[in-house]
Amino acid sequence: MNHTPSSSSPRSLGDFTWHERAACQAGPDPDLFFPHPDQTEQIRAAKTLCEQCPVRRTCLDAALEDGDRHGIRGGLTEEEREPLHRDLPHRLDHARVAATLGGRDVHLTDLERHAVVRAAYEAGEPSAHVARMLKISDDHVAKLYRRFRRQLRNRTLSQVTTPPQQATAPLSRDDVGPAA
Ligand code: SF4
Repeated sequence: MNHTPSSSSPRSLGDFTWHERAACQAGPDPDLFFPHPDQTEQIRAAKTLCEQCPVRRTCLDAALEDGDRHGIRGGLTEEEREPLHRDLPHRLDHARVAATLGGRDVHLTDLERHAVVRAAYEAGEPSAHVARMLKISDDHVAKLYRRFRRQLRNRTLSQVTTPPQQATAPLSRDDVGPAA
């Protein structure tokens, strides 16, 4: 069963304005979201509130990205959230890559950071611009750009096919030129 709420625009890092729209902001005792495992009524009440919450997805994202494993977040209990915590490093969310390329500061996994550099390289972005976007050194981006260049070159070379007659005819000593 998929517990993940429908996706929305990723939150910007350092932006906590979504707290103001949280369904739990003005009402219940915060302890409601930290039930003991056998407090099923409390768990049900907290989850019902989360289901009506307009920032449920953002709340869940924040919990995963902050490594917050305690209590109910985004409508999921600690146990329900655990597989999502484990899977987070494998996330490759193209909306986040696009948001970063568009100048927003959002949480990125290593895979997403790599995808940002790759897309920037293919778009001809200066490495210094990417370095600023990802808050890493220009040298590091330049190194990644060189790696992409080599990968593209290798792919191009591997696509070059040898003409059939050359592929089947064995090389003779004369084919490699005269001796020095
Ligand atoms: S989803 Fe998060 S912010 Fe919304 S009510 Fe539940 S715990 Fe509060």
